[in-house]
Amino acid sequence: MLRVLTVALLSCALSASAQQYDLVLRNGHVLDPKNNVDARRDVAIRDGKIAAIEPSIPASAAKQTVDITGLYLTPGLIDIHEHVFVGLHHDAWGNGDLSVPADVLATPNGVTTVVDAGSSGWRDFAELRHRVIETSKTRIFAFINIIGAGMANNDDAAEQNEHDMDLDALSKTIEQNRDLIVGIKTAHWQQPNFVSVQKAVEAGNRNHLPVMVDFGWFDNKSYEQMISTILRPGDISTHVFRMPAPLLTPEGKPAPYMLDARKRGIKFDVGHGGGSFNFALAEPMVKGGFFPDSISTDLHVGSATGVMLNMPNVMNKILALGVPLNEVIRESTTNPATEIGHPELGQIAVGAIADIAVLRVDRGSFGYADLAGGKVEGTERIVPEMTLRAGRVVFDLNARTAVPWREGHLKYATR
Ligand SMILES: [Zn+2]
Repeated sequence: MLRVLTVALLSCALSASAQQYDLVLRNGHVLDPKNNVDARRDVAIRDGKIAAIEPSIPASAAKQTVDITGLYLTPGLIDIHEHVFVGLHHDAWGNGDLSVPADVLATPNGVTTVVDAGSSGWRDFAELRHRVIETSKTRIFAFINIIGAGMANNDDAAEQNEHDMDLDALSKTIEQNRDLIVGIKTAHWQQPNFVSVQKAVEAGNRNHLPVMVDFGWFDNKSYEQMISTILRPGDISTHVFRMPAPLLTPEGKPAPYMLDARKRGIKFDVGHGGGSFNFALAEPMVKGGFFPDSISTDLHVGSATGVMLNMPNVMNKILALGVPLNEVIRESTTNPATEIGHPELGQIAVGAIADIAVLRVDRGSFGYADLAGGKVEGTERIVPEMTLRAGRVVFDLNARTAVPWREGHLKYATR
């Protein structure tokens, strides 16, 4: 009798310790450019973190296993140009509220981290923090606008008001929100000078943060001058393929000043948006070897309901231009993570937070449009299948983590 009891206790202890992982994703193809992994691997998760990456992890080692044969497992996607906030007190950009609730377009698209790109300034940052960031599943950081009122009225007086660039108030807000603010944003500046960019750089120096610039209009100042003489290494030029940016030589090659700027450490971000992506620039630049450093959406209601659509669609456009899949993943994970000063994100590594995208790559014949109605055809299409945020499955297109309903969980049916 005693012996039987001992055996029972022992086997109980064994099965408890055997299930050392919460979840194992089995048979996926891990693509992690940061750590140079491009191979079939099983990935185990425990307590929200990646606990093991092995050629084979037995199903018995986990409380739950999900087979993802034929799919890619990549770091959760990182979109550093979104608009997930508009202050309640102002008429959103003069056009109604164009902001998008982050989770709605992040989780079903493999995105686990987003950066709000200057929707708020120091006057309304607290509202962004409490109303949006702290209530979202998606990890959200922010570039804070150099204008105190943020994007109060796009293209309107508020965004052109250099008297609302208060570096003391801005710096105080940054100090109080260091955990969330990853840079300074300047956008839509229409004046024939670089005041907003210079002020943003000054704020960046003072607070040791990068600047993201939406150059705006090209008719009254030189993009080359800004890239070459005002921006610092680590600063980000978003909307890189926006017409009519003078990126090409008359022969259609990437301009030497662009190559010099890249060498100096300036980062070039896609920021597709509703008016900033044209194949007439993107294709010759990419074919000339000038890939974007980071792929981002410039997500807002207008772009999300237009040809931009979502993060994977923008990645698919870059893929269709001939950038290899591994590189597209790099530009959507580890590169943006590094640009925002969070190199710990955007990787599949033991001990890293388990932010994961599971992606299907369909092969066939697909079409992608730019904002001028131009089309490029591609043979591959990335389709998100699952998203995990800190180890929790937050999106599961094909219900891989569910069980046939007749077999269980009926006790929840009446909830
Ligand atoms: Zn934007």
